[in-house]
Amino acid sequence: PPLEQLYVHESVDNVIPKHDFVEAFDDLSIPVELVGDGREYEATDGVVSYVPRPEYLDAGWVHCARAGYDEFDTEAYEAAGIPLTNSSGIHGATVGEVAVGLMLSFARLLHLYRDHQGERAWYTPDYERPFTVENERLCVVGLGTIGEGIARRADALGMDVVGVRRSDDPVPGVSELFDPDELHDAVADARFVAIALPHTPATDGLFAEAEFDAMREDAYLVNVARGPIVDESALVSALESGAIAGAGADVFETEPLPESSPLWDMEEVIITPHKGSATNRYHLDIADLVKENVARYQDGEELRNRVA
Ligand code: NDP
Repeated sequence: PPLEQLYVHESVDNVIPKHDFVEAFDDLSIPVELVGDGREYEATDGVVSYVPRPEYLDAGWVHCARAGYDEFDTEAYEAAGIPLTNSSGIHGATVGEVAVGLMLSFARLLHLYRDHQGERAWYTPDYERPFTVENERLCVVGLGTIGEGIARRADALGMDVVGVRRSDDPVPGVSELFDPDELHDAVADARFVAIALPHTPATDGLFAEAEFDAMREDAYLVNVARGPIVDESALVSALESGAIAGAGADVFETEPLPESSPLWDMEEVIITPHKGSATNRYHLDIADLVKENVARYQDGEELRNRVA
């Protein structure tokens, strides 16, 4: 049956203002209502939510308001025959700019100058320390929307960009592709390694001691994907021992990053609070995706970003 109602679960407020989001559907052909927990759904209902809820399995279609849908039980959706879609495809610029910003800061020392600004200190770094990202090699691990967003921007800055993905699909700006089982070769010559993978059983803990050992000692890790892809205690050890030079991370094993984490105190670590996707038009970007899928659903077409 066609959809008669779209529900927006209030959990979307984690990333977007919920009322502005609902308003963005003013031109939709079906009514849109903001809801909390404890509601029953029917096959004529669509639901947009940030968090999974078991009752969604009675709806006609569920949209995850995030690109990373690892908290949703895809097998349960498949068993119930309910399409689940995600919000991939809209984070190339937002998360891409954060990843490139982190790399530029490490090279041009912006984070150090800002650290000293609070003390009104005219900081002079060692001569050896600053460098340019131009002509440095970046390895992007995971080449979907975000990986490509990072690669295109890095290429425009004159970086030498290589990447890792399972398929052979070429990516603009990426000069060489490696298979996942060649990860160590792929990162070996890179000054920067940027993780843009989904969190799956195959990528859980993918970056640990052996991977940091395979990286250059002057290399920087950038993780804008999901915390558990990196073994965080191995990362701390690698930073402490000098196996790698630094890290920029938007995502962590536990979020918010606990106050006790040694990462907070490290000069060559830049912590951003899982705000890589933040933009003042995020609610409009997600609404556009949802509206496209409402139209497809009503026309009986294959949904965009279907993940189960
Ligand atoms: P996409 O699905 O577009 O891209 C993921 C890419 O990773 C795919 O193109 C896939 O290519 C590749 N991939 C998947 N598994 C593997 C593997 N085992 N080894 C190597 N490559 C693999 O997702 P997005 O780019 O939109 O997002 C990526 C992740 O970033 C999300 O899953 C989410 O967790 C995180 N994210 C973080 C945000 C933040 O705020 N920091 C915001 C949005 C997303 P192939 O099929 O060729 O392997």
